[in-house]
Amino acid sequence: MQTEVVLAIGGNKGDRADFLQKAMDALSRQATLVGSSQIYETEAWGGVATSGNFLNQVVLIHTQMDPIVLLEVIQGIEEQLGRTREQHWGDRTMDIDILYFGDQVCDTPSLTIPHPYLAQRRFVLQPLAEILPTKKHPLLKKTTLELLAECTDLGQVSVWNQAK
Ligand code: ADP
Ligand code: MG
Repeated sequence: MQTEVVLAIGGNKGDRADFLQKAMDALSRQATLVGSSQIYETEAWGGVATSGNFLNQVVLIHTQMDPIVLLEVIQGIEEQLGRTREQHWGDRTMDIDILYFGDQVCDTPSLTIPHPYLAQRRFVLQPLAEILPTKKHPLLKKTTLELLAECTDLGQVSVWNQAK
């Protein structure tokens, strides 16, 4: 059975756009890539990153994996792309988070789905609204557009323009 899964990918170290492309390439080898948002640039979140702004993107895949196996796969891709786990919310080449796994709800020490900070992060909601504006959060029972309208995160999120 194929499940529609929504991932957030992003990083603020090295050639950020190249890391996004490499993450997409790696994901497409392990799952079916069905869509992606534009690339957005955002200020670092959580107050600990120092290497500058993040590039973020939301990606839609279809997969037969179960959530824990997918978590292992995305952590493998993070490692392959040079991610070291130094600081929570700190600088990183690549962070891949599972936002939604179909409409499944899961809360274990290693995996919380929907992603616990989804509704608080404009840099997640804005790209998500581009590709899944009417998807309903299975716990909050609100669409992406409703969550975005209520989001109090004041962080600047803008479409990234490679030419700049
Ligand atoms: P963060 O993404 O919060 O900056 P990390 O990427 O270092 O931090 O992730 C820390 C841990 O979060 C991972 O080891 C993973 O087990 C856990 N985790 C819990 N829920 C999720 C999820 N929905 N997607 C990705 N990781 C998750
Ligand atoms: Mg993460």
